[in-house]
Amino acid sequence: MSRSILFLAHVAEDGNTLPKVSYEVLGAALKLTKQLGARLTIGLIGEDVTAAAETVAAAGADRMLAVAGPDFATARYASDAAAAEALCRAAGAELILAPATSRFMRVLPGVAHRLKGCVDTHVTALEANTIDGELHATRWHYRQRIEAVIRRDARPWIVLLESGCEAAWADTERTGAPAAAKVEEIPVTLPKAATRTVVSGIRAPKSDAQTIRPDANLLLVAGAGWTKKQADGKTHVDQAETLILDFLRASGASLGGSKSLVDQSGDQSGESQAVLGFMTHLNQVGQTGATPRHPKGLSTCCHGEEPHVVGWRFINERRAVNLDPNCGWARGKADVLYVADAFEVMAKLNALLGQRSRTSPEEPMMKATVNPL
Ligand SMILES: Cc1cc2nc3c(=O)[nH]c(=O)nc-3n(C[C@H](O)[C@H](O)[C@H](O)COP(=O)(O)OP(=O)(O)OC[C@H]3O[C@@H](n4cnc5c(N)ncnc54)[C@H](O)[C@@H]3O)c2cc1C
Repeated sequence: MSRSILFLAHVAEDGNTLPKVSYEVLGAALKLTKQLGARLTIGLIGEDVTAAAETVAAAGADRMLAVAGPDFATARYASDAAAAEALCRAAGAELILAPATSRFMRVLPGVAHRLKGCVDTHVTALEANTIDGELHATRWHYRQRIEAVIRRDARPWIVLLESGCEAAWADTERTGAPAAAKVEEIPVTLPKAATRTVVSGIRAPKSDAQTIRPDANLLLVAGAGWTKKQADGKTHVDQAETLILDFLRASGASLGGSKSLVDQSGDQSGESQAVLGFMTHLNQVGQTGATPRHPKGLSTCCHGEEPHVVGWRFINERRAVNLDPNCGWARGKADVLYVADAFEVMAKLNALLGQRSRTSPEEPMMKATVNPL
């Protein structure tokens, strides 16, 4: 019997597409389908899946299934679990690939239990052995220090793939008008208890206040130097705040911080009284901080010490601005080190980004794809 794979996704908040990471997971599912000579089914969940289904219609899946209706519009454990279970049973797949969105991370382990299968979350790669087709999933443990390779006998096997690990599948082959996707609807009748929880609204910080942006192309790291005395013997924290926030606004970059800088938020002594108001411990990058994934990173006023730089493991192209030509970045930790005053460099960058947005006003600032480096 040939193998079968189910690519499971839910509709994005815009109602028309799938979350970005879903297209990456679809890319992985198509690769495996080809390698294993398997059959691929796409399973979608949402209020109305029509538009989202069209975005993946050209992927060449054998079947496209959906559980749709107002009850499946928003994340809710009971209805999402029922929908995912119905899709998994209808597809009869041994391998189920899904994006590691918060909506699915919450619900798919429970679904695996209902299916008497197994589940792995935070998976960063899934590969088939070229000789016997055996599947190997990879994930990190212990703050990215140990990489585990997992094999499972139990089926179905649900695998939640992290974002930023696979190239997204893009519907670039198609020419002309999009073909209407042929979707088989799977009926799911929810018991009353499954609709008890209602999402009454979403409270989120303003996009300006949201400085951690996992999907950004660039990570800007701010170090303790921003709050230190400068050449004139004074600190310039207000100016530092404005420069950093203006840059984040204009470039859409995500913000990271060094431990020394984020620790200042709780330290009210001496020189460290001067702190950046928007910097929290959640921004910290490093051994005891986060290990974010971004194609590019720009470090400013940060020394580049090893416990900090271990958090740059998944940042591909690295540049740093530091006054000190002997800082850690100069010792093989960055591709390019600008020995310069970060206050001047960032002011110039912001001016260039401002110029660009004035010359192409149709591009919203937050969506600017400008590459400042
Ligand atoms: C067990 C352990 C775990 C740790 N975990 C982490 C971690 O997770 N993350 C982390 O970040 N650190 C971690 N550290 C601390 C780490 O070793 C460093 O102390 C810390 O990263 C230093 O932060 P910094 O580079 O911002 O500050 P500093 O070392 O004070 O460096 C400030 C830099 O700013 C530069 N500068 C000043 N003004 C300017 C200017 N105008 N323009 C350009 N450059 C300027 C200076 O030249 C200097 O290099 C850990 C340490 C230990 C022992």
